[in-house]
Amino acid sequence: MSTNWNNLLEKLPERLAPSMAKDHPNLPVVKEEGVYYFGVDKKKYLDFTSGIAVTNVGHRHPKIVQAIKDAADELTHGPIGVIQYESILKYADELANVMPGDLDCFFFGNSGTEAVEGALKLARHVKNKPYAISFTGGFHGRTLGSLSVSTSKAKYRKHQPVGASYQIPYYDPSDDEQVAIEKLDAQFNQLFAHAADVEEVACVIMEPVLGEGGYVIPPKRWVQRIREICNENDLLLIFDEVQTGFGRTGEWFASNLFDVVPDIMAIAKAMASGQPISATVAPHKLMQQWPLGSHATTYGGNPIACRAGLATLEILKEENLLQNAKEVGAYAAAQLDELKAKYPVIGSIRAVGLMIGIEIVHPESGEPDGELAMNILDRALEEGVLFYFCGNKGEVIRMIPPLTVTKEQVDDGLLMLGRALERATKKST
Ligand code: PLP
Repeated sequence: MSTNWNNLLEKLPERLAPSMAKDHPNLPVVKEEGVYYFGVDKKKYLDFTSGIAVTNVGHRHPKIVQAIKDAADELTHGPIGVIQYESILKYADELANVMPGDLDCFFFGNSGTEAVEGALKLARHVKNKPYAISFTGGFHGRTLGSLSVSTSKAKYRKHQPVGASYQIPYYDPSDDEQVAIEKLDAQFNQLFAHAADVEEVACVIMEPVLGEGGYVIPPKRWVQRIREICNENDLLLIFDEVQTGFGRTGEWFASNLFDVVPDIMAIAKAMASGQPISATVAPHKLMQQWPLGSHATTYGGNPIACRAGLATLEILKEENLLQNAKEVGAYAAAQLDELKAKYPVIGSIRAVGLMIGIEIVHPESGEPDGELAMNILDRALEEGVLFYFCGNKGEVIRMIPPLTVTKEQVDDGLLMLGRALERATKKST
């Protein structure tokens, strides 16, 4: 595409809804490849965002590009039900092989939020009960159903009449395992005593590792205790693995980290390396309780996305990317610890695989400092590396590079982050 960029950037951004298009860093790019973006300014940028945890196999992996081309030569649209096609059947079968436990039946949608909508609807349908319990700080999407269980930021819910959910606090990283479990039991007991009739509750929904809410990694026993509480109270457990899936944590899913199999799972993001697809996943016997048409979609399981999904699974296995996420993730965390020792504005490093949160705190008060974090992100971009952010105040820098990233690329990126920290802290102190 030949483009007069100056003209476009001057006139057209206002055509895009600011609610989606004014995010950070809004870098104008012409191309993506591997772990890099190529800017309109002719600069090459190291990408530690993976398009928000989507391009786990690297941007425009040649096998993904080929799969998309091959698919488009045959079929560009389903819809499943009107027609049957090979890619959706094969993809569901291959996916079943990597899902935890007996999660083997798929409702395909197009986005993370749709996968969560499906999960909530399925749980309510099966249990014939209206309420869901979610965790404060959790993020599950922005459509009305998923929003009803999302509490990472109040602005998402402003003026939106959401309901039929209760919240309890997520794991507090300052608690040790024993205290955390005692608190968890007390919080559920209090909820059931004062606010929620347990007979009315269908499910508990959670991110096994908190994402948008600030990259918090709970202890294994805490997550396992939630599974037990669900069993004791006849509640379905939904894991939202939209962000944690497909190797991000060094395992296929965070469920594998905690040895917990949920009843229903929501997956999306990295599934097909950028092609829009998601899935609500449940054991066959649970999914069968949804009668024809009670939940359906026009685009879900699109043939191009399914072919890209099959190629993504292949690449993750062939290139041993889960192992790379573990190894390079541990390396990055160790390097970040060194930066932390040098820059006290780094409050904590929270890392599992290549899902890494760098908490930024105010140099004097030690309180979470979103403004400083944003300043560091801006400087890092000037240095040539993209990071994203999370946390209630935007105080956590997310480092989520493609799982293909090498130690050398981590070194490059962290050198640039170090320079950004130097510049940003000089200005702010
Ligand atoms: N759930 C989690 C854990 C997410 O991180 C996200 C997106 O960031 C969503 C759901 C929503 O996904 P989408 O933006 O594709 O609707």
